[in-house]
Amino acid sequence: MLYLNGQFLRPEDAKISALDRGCLFGDGVYEVIPVYSRQPFRLAEHVHRLDASLASIALPNPHSAAEWMELVQAVIARQDYDDQSVYLHVTRGSASERDFPFPQDVEPTVLINPAPLVTPSHEQKARGVRAISHADFRWLRCDIKSLNLLPTVLLREAAKRAGCAECLMFRDGWLSEGAASNIFVVKDGVIAVPPKDHLILPGITYDLVLELAKQHGLPLEVRRISEAETRAADELWMTSSTKEILAIVELDGQPVGKGQVGPLAQRMDAHYQEFKQTVMRG
Ligand code: PMP
Repeated sequence: MLYLNGQFLRPEDAKISALDRGCLFGDGVYEVIPVYSRQPFRLAEHVHRLDASLASIALPNPHSAAEWMELVQAVIARQDYDDQSVYLHVTRGSASERDFPFPQDVEPTVLINPAPLVTPSHEQKARGVRAISHADFRWLRCDIKSLNLLPTVLLREAAKRAGCAECLMFRDGWLSEGAASNIFVVKDGVIAVPPKDHLILPGITYDLVLELAKQHGLPLEVRRISEAETRAADELWMTSSTKEILAIVELDGQPVGKGQVGPLAQRMDAHYQEFKQTVMRG
């Protein structure tokens, strides 16, 4: 069952107008929330980022944080599987004609559509994954989790064709992020990550990694990272809500460091898993 505009429906019964602005213009924002054993992970943080994304596109938030949390829990409860990936989007609704400026008196479209959670395989965790790189050709508001995902589609397709899991992006010689993940760089025992500015998505996992590094006394710098530095790293990690912390062991066919999952990736992943277990136990 999914949720669409106030109703719980079977996916085959859920219909969205052909004039929905999400469909026509990508005029909307979204979130993906991981759910373990029916417990959403970092739900308040996702709801907060959704609010920030909506504010950035001047789309009034149709729900309070408490209402969002209740809705997400209601959707989770209606599925017949425990580990879920809850996709949620809000668009500026559908007007009677295709016109760019905001329509007046139109209700936003709210969709909450869960799917079974797919986490990295044991093999990917143990051996790491491969990545390619590409120039970051996206716009200058990558901090908004917008429905305009054509760059992600093209870059992830290129990665897949190259037998890789992710595509790292560089803008003007500086590391930005992965097509659908944030990127951490390790050199000589120090973790580094680009700042949360308009060029990257403020990742929920990014924030948690920063928190965990602080808590466990691991050196971490938030600063710009050059392409040369990225290519000379001892370790590279990709982070996202569903991929968690995943080591990248090869970039553009070259080994990253020793070409294996590095010690800091293992340590951070252990802290992450421990944190998750603690939260889930309540
Ligand atoms: N950057 C981009 C472009 C993404 O699509 C994602 C996935 N949502 C991330 C970073 C990671 O964000 P999070 O940790 O919140 O999943």
